[in-house]
Amino acid sequence: MALTSLHQMLGVLETQENWHTRRHFQAVLACWSDVVGSAVTAQTRPISIQRQVLQVATSSSAWAQNLMFERQRILTKLNGRVSSPLTDIRFSTALWKRPLRSNAAADETSEQIKLWQAHPSRVALPETESSRLPNPPLRDPKTAFDAWAKQIQARSRQLPLCPTCHCPTPPGELQRWAVCSLCAAKGW
Ligand SMILES: [Zn+2]
Repeated sequence: MALTSLHQMLGVLETQENWHTRRHFQAVLACWSDVVGSAVTAQTRPISIQRQVLQVATSSSAWAQNLMFERQRILTKLNGRVSSPLTDIRFSTALWKRPLRSNAAADETSEQIKLWQAHPSRVALPETESSRLPNPPLRDPKTAFDAWAKQIQARSRQLPLCPTCHCPTPPGELQRWAVCSLCAAKGW
């Protein structure tokens, strides 16, 4: 096979891979606010999917920390809605205020931010309460956050920590794998 056609073929594969990742990311965007609820949606912005790991920008490190406690629940719910499963979620404040168009490398991200900003699910719509993370009633953001964080901490305080990622983990998982299910899955 001529070298040029091999290059062309690799180019096609790469494009298909990008296309697949993009579709996957859009599917996550479409259900993000549904899964996490409006309080969390206002403080987070899914940025990209890298190797099946969803990268989420958060407005503050306090939100990033508390969402780490919730990531397993969020992951389970997300994976119930998208076709190819995510393996983990990373919350980071680093991407929250990235300027649009700062350099060429940021173009992909800024495109995704624009996509997200234009996305209908970004608007907090009235929601059914059934399968949501706890949503405190609308108050000022600080009060709403404190109430939410307290709920999360109260729930996770009773749970033992995974020795690998130090996140609160159901005891059944520790009994079975000696680590949380997310860390266990990484070893499979
Ligand atoms: Zn773990």
